[in-house]
Amino acid sequence: MKVPFVDLKAQYLTIKGDIDSAIADVINETAFIGGKYVNNFEAEFAEKYGVKHCISVANGTDSLYIIMKMLGIGPGDEVITVANSWISTSETITQTGATPVFVDIDPVYYTINEDLIAAKISPKTKAILPVHLYGQVCDMNKIMQLAKDNGLFVIEDCAQSHFSTFAGQRAGTMGIAGSFSFYPGKNLGAYGDAGCIITNDDDLADKCKTFARHGAKIKHKHIMEGINSRLDGLQAAILSKKLPHILDWTQIRIEKAALYSRLLADVAEVVCPVVRPDTTHSFHLYVVKVQRRAALIDYLSAQGIDTAIHYPTSLPLLPAYDYLNYSAETIPVSHENQSQILSLPMYPELSDDAIEWVVNAIKSFYSAN
Ligand SMILES: *Cc1c(COP(=O)(O)O)cnc(C)c1O
Repeated sequence: MKVPFVDLKAQYLTIKGDIDSAIADVINETAFIGGKYVNNFEAEFAEKYGVKHCISVANGTDSLYIIMKMLGIGPGDEVITVANSWISTSETITQTGATPVFVDIDPVYYTINEDLIAAKISPKTKAILPVHLYGQVCDMNKIMQLAKDNGLFVIEDCAQSHFSTFAGQRAGTMGIAGSFSFYPGKNLGAYGDAGCIITNDDDLADKCKTFARHGAKIKHKHIMEGINSRLDGLQAAILSKKLPHILDWTQIRIEKAALYSRLLADVAEVVCPVVRPDTTHSFHLYVVKVQRRAALIDYLSAQGIDTAIHYPTSLPLLPAYDYLNYSAETIPVSHENQSQILSLPMYPELSDDAIEWVVNAIKSFYSAN
């Protein structure tokens, strides 16, 4: 049995009629940039999140950059973030002119270790940028308290945590703004690049929207220089067709994750994900810690099972950050994890049989090795 890491075609086939007609409508109406489909999606997403504003942008990297830039973060400032994430998280801090300050991950939940943040706060710190990695929400009580005590902004990177919750609140609604990616493989994925910002702050929303549209609220009246970061009509129309399914798809991911964890419970060489209490983990990724990872990956691959690593090198240890002089000892947990973590196939259309097949392959690897 072939088990791909994700299967975007399988999801398309379940909603093909809706998607095909949405694409045809956009083309017939030549509503390519701006207009009805984009406005509709922004309104629908804001409504589903119960927030005042959704500003669509070109991707989930731009959304982070735009938020920070419009909060006034820039040269001389520091932004505290996590050692293990996709590079967009730290790259955009640098793009504003600020410096990323990396904090190690929690040994159980693999998100930023909240207890290590306080020691990293300096007079230059302007914001904390927690990442709800894999769909697991950070401890937002601790983070919001730290931010309050120190007068810092909290910007939530929700690229992997659509509709995750913390104590009944949706990830992305607790900080000053939430940043979302709709990259095709994300839980809510477009058919190309896409992203958005959500916020309840009127002033920030207005600034982000203006900046992302060349600094103009009204055509040709540029009140500042901005950038071109737009969601296009085709992507908006596709996202609007997918949005009504997202809570069901999330629920199915949670059930698939529970099945993996149940079947893997007696495999001593595998550590299953631990969901933070009082949260909903949206399982963008199902990440285990394993022994003899390289050999296991090869073994699974030979059985037709694809896996991935998120991420093989902690951000501060990438060559891009040599100039910041972090060493493995400064982020020991993230450094140890990077050689053990393994993301198993995860998507709502993944069959239970496929999960059993994957788990049986893992078991046969460890009984033979
Ligand atoms: C995907 C991702 C992003 C960036 O999103 P793009 O839409 O690809 O630009 C940012 N942060 C995290 C944690 C991500 O996984």
